Amino acid sequence: MERYWNQEIECMSREDMKKLQDERLVAQVKHVYDNVKYYRDLMDEKGVKPEDIKGIDDLCKLPFLSKADLREAYPYGLLAKPLSECVRIHSTSGTTGKRVVAFYTQNDVDMWEDCVARAITAAGGTNEDVCQVAYGYGLFTGGAGLHGGSHKVGCLTLPMSSGNTERQIGFMQDLGATILCCTPSYAAYIGETVQEMGLTPDDLKLKAGIFGAEPWTEEMRRSIEKSLGIKAYDIYGLTESSGPGVAFECCEQSGMHINEDNFYPEIINPDTGEVLPEGEVGELVFTSLTKEAFPLLRYRTRDLCVLSRKKCSCGRTLIKMAKPMGRSDDMMIIRGVNVFPSQIETVLIEQGYSPNYLIEVDRKNNTDTLDISVEMNPDQFSDKVKDMQEQEKSLAIAMKTMLGINPKVHLVSPKSIARSEGKAVRVIDRRKLIDNPAKK
Ligand code: ADP
Ligand code: ZN
Repeated sequence: MERYWNQEIECMSREDMKKLQDERLVAQVKHVYDNVKYYRDLMDEKGVKPEDIKGIDDLCKLPFLSKADLREAYPYGLLAKPLSECVRIHSTSGTTGKRVVAFYTQNDVDMWEDCVARAITAAGGTNEDVCQVAYGYGLFTGGAGLHGGSHKVGCLTLPMSSGNTERQIGFMQDLGATILCCTPSYAAYIGETVQEMGLTPDDLKLKAGIFGAEPWTEEMRRSIEKSLGIKAYDIYGLTESSGPGVAFECCEQSGMHINEDNFYPEIINPDTGEVLPEGEVGELVFTSLTKEAFPLLRYRTRDLCVLSRKKCSCGRTLIKMAKPMGRSDDMMIIRGVNVFPSQIETVLIEQGYSPNYLIEVDRKNNTDTLDISVEMNPDQFSDKVKDMQEQEKSLAIAMKTMLGINPKVHLVSPKSIARSEGKAVRVIDRRKLIDNPAKK
């Protein structure tokens, strides 16, 4: 039976949700306009006044906000409450450049933790569970977010943070952890280590995993589910909008419900800013509806995905977002072709390789080069050079079919690619010339 953390909101009718969003947006815009000079200037420049925003239908009148704005306004330029009312600061992981910081009042922390509690409940979590939080603790939002949500649900919370993998597994066994929370790349590493320690999923009590903070494919999901004997649920969020828990997967495991009572999503064409209809792929934009210290209106996430209002079998009516295909920043343009690391991961796992790989892009004699190093599983290793060349060739053909361009594939020995305990770094782009418009 599906349980809800907040059934009234999670199963609210469309009309009631729209009404709630309308009211909240009006108040949020007024709060931002009155308290944030940076945003007031942007609105004045566009000739929009708070009175012009009467509800969600007027959202398109507001200017966008981008990461560049956050960097420009660093650290206090977008703060909407006095620091004396703030209780917490977090910072982005800095995956794509200079870090930005976000501020929280106590109400902001409560709202965030409530969103995470919905996610843990949707993954089957209750106060009977032991929840092992193996996201990093600290400035990164992963540890704090899942920790707070786990407390709200009443799970026995194991604040492990990331790293020290054998100890993680030891505690997991000794204390009977039932839910594991970490990045998917770390979950894959934990799964691999379980096997190396001579254990099987039957030696663990885990039933569910809540994995996010980086893109991961369906193939990766299946591989983790098998190695740990669990159901693996996706969770999405970003520091700018509080942290993980903006959206979460339910028992259907097909797309994440967005906590749209707090975060209103739009999909736009990243080049023109035009709002796209439901079902079209574009850049995800969020407007916070209830934040106090660090509200963001029409914030461009640079994450590419699709929204859907299709009825979900879990009973929730919250809009769903598909798994983000990656950020617009992650997209590599190689010899004029758009390539996402997730496409490469899909091929690798489908062909029976491990999700341990490194993509290197360079430019030689004016031509882009794409080299993919792929770790072999011990049983794939052969001491016959010819066999290895055959394997590399057949993998390169599968890649060509998926990507449309020919990569150079290098099979490397087991364990030679560094494992990730947080967000995995899978791409090294050495081209001096940056011709990816999304990076500008
Ligand atoms: P940084 O932007 O420096 O990595 P954050 O730690 O705030 O800082 O990361 C937020 C970003 O992580 C999102 O914008 C998105 O690109 C990525 N992300 C988070 N959760 C997911 C997920 N479930 N699937 C794919 N990408 C995700
Ligand atoms: Zn659902």
